[in-house]
Amino acid sequence: MMVTSDQKPDHLPENDGQPRIEPAPTTRLAPSPTGDLHLGNARTFLLNWAAARRLGWRIILRHEDLDSGRASEEGCRRIEASLHWLGIEWDGPSTRQSEDLSPYLEAMRRLSEQGLVFQSDLSRRDIREAVGAPHGGELVFPATLRPSDEKSWGFEDQTAGHRFAMPEGQETVRDEIEGIHHFNPAREGGDLVLWTRGGRPGYQLAVVVDDLAQGVTDVVRGNDLLASAARQQRLGTALGRVAPPRWWHLPLIHDEEGRRLAKRDGDSGLESLRASGVPPTRVIGLLLYLAGILPRRIPLEAAEAIELIDVDSLQTLSKREDTTPCRLTAEDLTWLRS
Ligand code: GLU
Repeated sequence: MMVTSDQKPDHLPENDGQPRIEPAPTTRLAPSPTGDLHLGNARTFLLNWAAARRLGWRIILRHEDLDSGRASEEGCRRIEASLHWLGIEWDGPSTRQSEDLSPYLEAMRRLSEQGLVFQSDLSRRDIREAVGAPHGGELVFPATLRPSDEKSWGFEDQTAGHRFAMPEGQETVRDEIEGIHHFNPAREGGDLVLWTRGGRPGYQLAVVVDDLAQGVTDVVRGNDLLASAARQQRLGTALGRVAPPRWWHLPLIHDEEGRRLAKRDGDSGLESLRASGVPPTRVIGLLLYLAGILPRRIPLEAAEAIELIDVDSLQTLSKREDTTPCRLTAEDLTWLRS
């Protein structure tokens, strides 16, 4: 019997009779172990974890520890301790990017074969001076600073800095929360660092390689990385990624002066809250309140968050941010410790 697509039962294979294997939806928590998690990181991770549990995604913990000057094994342990304390768990053992550099070296080889890699040891200051850029703001590495001699193209010396020759043109990011955004990565960040002068993969390369290798289908993170999504899409395409992951960029938490929470803000560090006897249920309750998911602050277990989160609540959180930006107040901190 002929089966038309309308009638096709679910179990029938597609693609010329080959069963199509859909990747299991997978997300990741990707902290940089350069300091303790603060309430802002914790809110993103809590929402990511609860959405994963609600929607049946696998969840990986990947420590982004390639910054050898600042990242540490102790930092990884403290982050895991904070997450366990909150009641956030993950599937399988956690990974560390520094464990095995071979996938990044392989990616460099692939990019280099396409003529997209060049060596450049220009410092930020050199670039700023060359392009006449003021301090502050994002520094753009323009195509005019690419080397003209052929021997600087490719990836020969692993102890030298290398950049990605970012192709010109528009790159569109379709974000589940932020909607559609158009970027031109060549104009906004320019040629990004693929390999550092310290002989390590750069942030963008490592994220793209790992998201691909670990089968990450859903990236949930702070919306400070929205522009990076466009750059990562470009790199992903060059590395053979067929479609970008689904992006879910969430608003960040700011303090009363409107500054983003940072690791230096001891007051909102999870390890310091834990050490001062704050119960994790208060932290969870506050984070859900700050996400507009609870109407008032009440102590709650992480597991109770799963039922409260869905795609709608994440989208509402983002819309609410436009009218009522989320601020962590002194009153919030007092409630945690009360
Ligand atoms: N490790 C990055 C950070 O802590 C996050 C990277 C990502 O989610 O893509 O900011």
